[in-house]
Amino acid sequence: MTTEKPASPRLTAKHQGEIAYIRQMRPQDILSPVPAGLFCKPGNFHIDPVRPVERAVITHGHSDHARAGHGAVLATQETLDIMRLRYGENFAGSTQAVRYGEEIRLGDVSVKFQPAGHVLGSAQIAVSCKDTCIVASGDYKDVRDPTCAPFEVVPCDVFITEATFGLPVFRHGNAADEVKKLLASVALFPERAHLVGAYSLGKAQRVIALIREAGYDAPIYLHGAMEKITHYYQSRGIALGELKPVRGMKKADLAGAIALAPPTATSDIWTRRFPDPVTAFASGWMRVRARARQRGVELPLVISDHADWDGLTATIAATGAGEVWVTHGQEDALVHWCQTRGLAARPLDLVGYGDEEESEALSEGEEA
Ligand SMILES: [Zn+2]
Repeated sequence: MTTEKPASPRLTAKHQGEIAYIRQMRPQDILSPVPAGLFCKPGNFHIDPVRPVERAVITHGHSDHARAGHGAVLATQETLDIMRLRYGENFAGSTQAVRYGEEIRLGDVSVKFQPAGHVLGSAQIAVSCKDTCIVASGDYKDVRDPTCAPFEVVPCDVFITEATFGLPVFRHGNAADEVKKLLASVALFPERAHLVGAYSLGKAQRVIALIREAGYDAPIYLHGAMEKITHYYQSRGIALGELKPVRGMKKADLAGAIALAPPTATSDIWTRRFPDPVTAFASGWMRVRARARQRGVELPLVISDHADWDGLTATIAATGAGEVWVTHGQEDALVHWCQTRGLAARPLDLVGYGDEEESEALSEGEEA
């Protein structure tokens, strides 16, 4: 006589199907583009929303990604500080600072911030739900920058990449070599001032740090619109040497000097306070000669805070992602590149993200 063991519970095909579905949640059910930005339904938050929302997760402080008026904002301490500098104390209902590598639970997902190497405090945001991980990288670059934490590759299933310089023609080269060109020109024209157009958040401080690394130790002059943010970088321990405001300087005393200013200021009446200025512009777009000519730039400096073509493609490969969503920039070539390598890829139609390297507008409250 045999004793019958009670039947162990067995998974029916239906159960197994449900479990497989839960484990492999479709990426578009985790993050999807909506008019306000990239929305995470299971976590009930938006990433870099372009309209006021209840809960925002912000990648970095550039104004097209970090806007005022959200209910709650989750970002790195630096990004929160930069937003506060730009928009004032009441820029959000509430804020929460997150460290790189720290995991935060939001609804049914967990989010983790990892360095994006773009500007001080910039982060990629890894959103994990069940067994699926999507990385929204915001803006990023994979080359050295003495003013921010270096980019880290985050393995993921879906990688969301920018495509600002998403064409094979864009290869930025070595930023230190561009700064050498600037210093060679300063040595060649000691009677002239050198006026370097650079975006106020990130680019300006990186250019200053590179000038210092090249051994230039005279004071560097700042346009008024750059003072607050540059002093903030110094307060976070970024060594930038002696900085002075252009304001109040006599024209003759600026002979041989280097001054940094927002790109718009380098083509307006403000430049008249400098002796015979050489106009330089630090941007990835300076690879395109016509752009430099159009802007009247005498000394184009190819220095970008965005990954170039090689950086974009190398990063996509390094993440191991099988699927790539391409946003803000020149999506087509990058989508095609992914597809030829057997990756699922599509452009993500997000609106409202510009390119700070081309940005012309001075933020409110910033004075010349
Ligand atoms: Zn940016």
